[in-house]
Amino acid sequence: MLPENGRSTEDLLAELARLKEGDLPVREGRVAAYVYDPGRPHVREAGRRAYLEMLEVNGLDPTAFPSTVALEGRVVGAVAAVLGGDAGTPGIFTSGGTESIMLAVKAARDSWTPPAAGPGAEGAGGPRDVPEVVLPVTAHPAFRKACHYLGLAPVTVPVDPVTLRAVPSAVAGAVGPRTALVVASAPSYPHGVVDPVPEIAAIAAGRGVPCHVDACVGGWVLPWLEGAPPFDLSVPGVTSISCDLHKYGYAPKGASVVLFAREGLRRAAYYASADWPGYTVINSTVQSSKGAGPLAGAWATLQALGASGYRELAAEATAAADRLRAGVADIPGLRVLGEPDAPLVALASSDPEVDVFVLADEVARAGWFLQVQLSYAGIPPNLHLTLTGVSLAGVEALLEVLADAVAAVRGRRPDLPGGLAGAVEGLDLSAVDDRGFADLLSAVGVTLGGPGGSPTAAVNTILDGLAPAAREALLVRFLSVLNSPHTP
Ligand SMILES: *Cc1c(COP(=O)(O)O)cnc(C)c1O
Repeated sequence: MLPENGRSTEDLLAELARLKEGDLPVREGRVAAYVYDPGRPHVREAGRRAYLEMLEVNGLDPTAFPSTVALEGRVVGAVAAVLGGDAGTPGIFTSGGTESIMLAVKAARDSWTPPAAGPGAEGAGGPRDVPEVVLPVTAHPAFRKACHYLGLAPVTVPVDPVTLRAVPSAVAGAVGPRTALVVASAPSYPHGVVDPVPEIAAIAAGRGVPCHVDACVGGWVLPWLEGAPPFDLSVPGVTSISCDLHKYGYAPKGASVVLFAREGLRRAAYYASADWPGYTVINSTVQSSKGAGPLAGAWATLQALGASGYRELAAEATAAADRLRAGVADIPGLRVLGEPDAPLVALASSDPEVDVFVLADEVARAGWFLQVQLSYAGIPPNLHLTLTGVSLAGVEALLEVLADAVAAVRGRRPDLPGGLAGAVEGLDLSAVDDRGFADLLSAVGVTLGGPGGSPTAAVNTILDGLAPAAREALLVRFLSVLNSPHTP
């Protein structure tokens, strides 16, 4: 509630500290997703102070605040120089991977011309004037979201069932007269696998179609590793690439870059409107008014670490991932999915007696957070870890926790609250309001709004048994209830 009279800063900060008590820890590497701790206090300090320095500057109007143009030029230029571009490579600083991808998809859409009417013009499913995006199933949902928001149709292709890499021939088979964009990941977030970018980009180029490389997670770790597969703008046929600085760039959140091979593509990502009686709008991003804090924070973090700092962090993250994979090979009941090329690892069960959802809960009790990934397209349920620079120091402890947890959960099944599965099965969501859904959850023992956030094995088991559309409907309802006044 809004207080009648203003409160003191100390009071407010104390309240924030209390609120954060239920959060996962953001440092030290025991949370294997969401957070990227450089483990170097002076780097965090540089990012934080630069962020605060630019907090009140508005990136809405680059002519009013030329500092934002200068900073964006520096950040985009630094990223382009590492990712196969040069000083003239056009790019945009965005709030995150989703926004970078949204802009790459918009650029592709606005550069696309529908095929002439005639045989074959209908494409994979839909009218002639709906452009398509060809996506390996491992591509990030941000592309589906962009398609949903921007009126394109996703066309998915399977990946190799063993390596989990996109299959060029399958991509080639999916490219049609309505294809506006082909996507490859470097790497895919779920399994850390880099798609064969040169082959996929060549297929796209051969058909006159743009190719986006999603290097949101890998774009600032792969370049610092020896022998990483080719993936950047130097690969012929790659027309845009996204790289999140708030992931392996270790910058404060709200920082990503999308680069384009041609300036016309960047212009197609822009938006302008002079169609109202107010100030003329010219935006490079989805956001309009925006603080310059994230931009300054990213710039300062890049400068504070430098190439040698990133090389060290990437080597440490990779050493942690290598040690994890080697250690997991010695834990009966666990296996690594696919062939990861980056320090992201997905652990699946190799023993029907070991349930990964139960394992996730057991590991959480020991103070470690691993990210649950539900089964999809023939890929089994698994636990994801994004290893960072600080992970190396804790990897032996993590392996011990994993070995003990696997032994402890062997033979244990998820503890499904009585009637939960049946209740979900027979549930007509359209007939239940948020309060009803909240009551249902608490009736079967699912707590909302408390600390510890992550769903339990029971909830994951239920979700895992559902088709994606049913999972989505439940998740939307869950989020709505989580944010509703009916939540305790
Ligand atoms: C994180 C990620 C995204 C989305 O980025 P946000 O910053 O969370 O919006 C897209 N693609 C990949 C591969 C990612 O890892």
